[in-house]
Amino acid sequence: MTDRRRFVAWLGSLPLVGGHHRLPAAPPIVIDATPTALYQQPDGRNNLVRVAVSGLDAPAARARVTDRRGTLVGTAGLLATGAGLAGELWVPLSRASGAEFQIDVEVGKQRVGSRRVRLTPPRRWTVYWIASSHTDVRLTALQEDSLELHRRNLDAALARLPAHPDFRWTAECALHLISYVENRAPAAGEALARAIRDGKIGVSALFAQPLTGILDHETFARLVWPAGLFAREHGLGYQAAQLADVPGQSLTFPTLLAASGVRYLASAVNPERAAPLLSPADAVRAQLGGGEWTTYPQLYWWEGPDGSRVLHWRADQYADGLRFGFDVGPAEMGRRLSDWLLTHPVFLSPGYPYDVVLLSGATGDNGLLDERVVANVEEFSRRFAYPRLVTARPEEFFREVERRWGTKLPVRRGDTGCYREDGAASTAAELGRYRAAQLVARAAQLLALWDEKTEPRDGGAAERIEQRASERRKMWRDLLLFGEHTWGAPAGEADPDGAEGAAQWHHKRRFLDGGAAAADAQVAAALLRIGLSTGGSGGPARVVFNASSWARSDVVQVPHGAARRLVQDGREWPAVDLPDGSALIVARDVPALGYLVLAESERAPNPPRDDGATLEAQAGGFHVVLDPARSARSRPGTVWSASGRRAGRGSTSSCTWRAARIAPCGRAERATSCGPLPISRCTRRRSYRRAASGSPASGPGWSPSARSKVAPGSRRS
Ligand SMILES: [Zn+2]
Repeated sequence: MTDRRRFVAWLGSLPLVGGHHRLPAAPPIVIDATPTALYQQPDGRNNLVRVAVSGLDAPAARARVTDRRGTLVGTAGLLATGAGLAGELWVPLSRASGAEFQIDVEVGKQRVGSRRVRLTPPRRWTVYWIASSHTDVRLTALQEDSLELHRRNLDAALARLPAHPDFRWTAECALHLISYVENRAPAAGEALARAIRDGKIGVSALFAQPLTGILDHETFARLVWPAGLFAREHGLGYQAAQLADVPGQSLTFPTLLAASGVRYLASAVNPERAAPLLSPADAVRAQLGGGEWTTYPQLYWWEGPDGSRVLHWRADQYADGLRFGFDVGPAEMGRRLSDWLLTHPVFLSPGYPYDVVLLSGATGDNGLLDERVVANVEEFSRRFAYPRLVTARPEEFFREVERRWGTKLPVRRGDTGCYREDGAASTAAELGRYRAAQLVARAAQLLALWDEKTEPRDGGAAERIEQRASERRKMWRDLLLFGEHTWGAPAGEADPDGAEGAAQWHHKRRFLDGGAAAADAQVAAALLRIGLSTGGSGGPARVVFNASSWARSDVVQVPHGAARRLVQDGREWPAVDLPDGSALIVARDVPALGYLVLAESERAPNPPRDDGATLEAQAGGFHVVLDPARSARSRPGTVWSASGRRAGRGSTSSCTWRAARIAPCGRAERATSCGPLPISRCTRRRSYRRAASGSPASGPGWSPSARSKVAPGSRRS
C-alpha cells in the first residue's frame, strides 16, 4: 500500500459475506530511538540519536523530540530506508543514567504517533588508529617496486606534517625506514629520523612480517636486530611492534620481543585459516568454541616461557581504514564505527570494560595513502568529540591501556599457531636449503668471535674484520627477507608455474641464494684463518668446527675428501668416498663451540659398496624398510617403516615412524639437528689472501645437499 486512497480502494474491494469477516487493522506505528556511539563537538554532551519509524504509510515524516519539561530538543526529517523511515538528531545525553524524552512523529502538520523513551548514553570511546600500509615484500609487485611504494608513503608523511601536525603515519616495519635511508638523499633520511625522534612518525621494531615457524632460533633472535642497529645509528628508540596478515607466531615470540626491548605488540591477522579464528559456529563444530580466545579482538599480556611479557592487541583485520569507510567520508565512518562499537559481542561482554580500541591499516597491501583519507579523518574529528579518533603511534594506545588497566589485564601463554607456514612448504627444497643456510649463518657468526685472534696483523686487519661484519649484516637481512611471509604471487595457487609466479619466486629465491652464499664463504674463510693460525704439523690439515653449544659426534661431508685420510690425535676417522669427489666421515667428539684440527694424508679410495637389491638397511641402532608397492601407491621416496633405539640420559628411548616422507627437512630433523659441523681444508701452501678477499673458496665449506625442483609460489601470503 503506497497511499491512503489505494488502501481505501482495497478495503472497498473486499467481499462482504455475512458479518463474520473482520476488516484488517491498520498496522501499528512503531517508533524507536537509539543512541549511537557518536557525540557532538565541542564538549561531547550531545549524542547523535537515530529515530526509526515503521508501520507508517507515508514517504517522509518528521520527528519532534522534547525533554521532560516539554522543551523542544530538536527535530529530525525521517526518510524512507527500505524497512521504514529513519533520521538522526542531536540529543543531550550528558548524565550517565540517561534521560526521558517524548518523540512525536508528524506527517505534514498532523501528529500520527508518539512515544516516551528513556535514552542512556553509550560509552564514550577512543579509537586509536595506526595509519600504516601493509608490507608484502613482493606479491603485489616485485620487491623494489613494492618497497618504493612504502618509501613514497614516508615522503608523503614528512611532507604532510607542517599542514597536518596531528596525523601520525607509522612505518609498519623497520624495513621501510632502513630502505628509505638507503635510497633517499641524506637530508631526507635525517628529516625522517628527526620526525621519529619528535614522535611525529611511528615505527615498528620488527624488520619485516616474519613466518616465525620457519626461522632457526638465531634468525628468529634477529627479527628486531636491524631496527636496533637503525635506532642506535640515529639516536632513536622503539617500544612497539606491529605485525599484520600472519595468523600466528611461536610461543617464544613474546620472549624475543621483550628481550629486544619491545613492550607492546599490535597484531592484526588474516583470518583466512587458523583454528582459533573460526566463526563461532565452526568453532563449536571443531570443539573449540566457548572460550574467549575464539573471538577477536583480544587484549592481554602475552607471556613467554621465561615469564617475560608483551602487551598484545590481537585483531582479525588489518586494513581497517578501508573497512570503516575512511576513504568515503565522515558520515559513513561514523555509521560503520558506531555499529561496530555498539554491536560487537566482544565490546558488549563484561570481559571488555575498556573504552579504547585499536584499528590498524590505512591502505590495501603495499598501498599508497589516499590523501582524502587524511581530510576525512580530520573532518570526522571536527564533527565528533566521540569516538575520539586518534591517528596514533602504536605505543600511544598501549601506554594508555597499561596506565589504566595494566594490572587487571588477562595473561595468556602459548603460541598463536603457525598456520601460514604451510605456504613455505610449497617450495620444500628451498625451505630445506633455507634451514641449512640459517645454521651455516649461525656458524659464521660464531666463527667471527675468533676474528681478533686469527686475523693476520699485516695492516688493514680492522678494515677486513669490519668488512666481514658488514657482509654478515647483509647475510642476516637476506635470510630474514626469505623468511618474510609473502610466498609467491597471488595467482600462485591456480597457476604456480605461470610467468608472474615464476618472476616473484625468482626474486624471493635471490635472498636465499645471497644469504647462503655469504654464509658459506664466511665459514670457509674463517676456518681457513683458524687453520692457518693454529700451525699444526706443517702438512695438509682440515679444521672441523662445531657450532653447537654441546660436544658432538656426527657425520660430516668433506669437500674433495675422497681418498684422503683424516687423523686426529693418532685416530683415523672412518670415511667413505662419494662419486662427486667428496667423502662422508664420522667426526668424533668435536668440542662445543670449538674445533679440531686433523692431519690430512692420502689413503686408498673407499667407494660405497653395492649391497644389491635390498630394501632393508641397518645403520647403527636404526633399521629401515622400503616397501616399493606401497611407496608407488603413495609417493616415491617414502620410507615405509623405520625404527630405532638410541641412548637417552641414563635410559634408552625408542621410536618408530611409518610412511615418513624423505624430505630435505622436517620436524624430526629440526628437533634433533641443532648446528652444522662445517669442515674446511687448509694447507700451508694455500694463499691466505684468497680467503681474506672474501672470494668463495671452491673446496672448503660445508654445504647442504638438498636439491629438488618444485613448483614455486603455490601459496600466497
Ligand atoms: Zn601480507
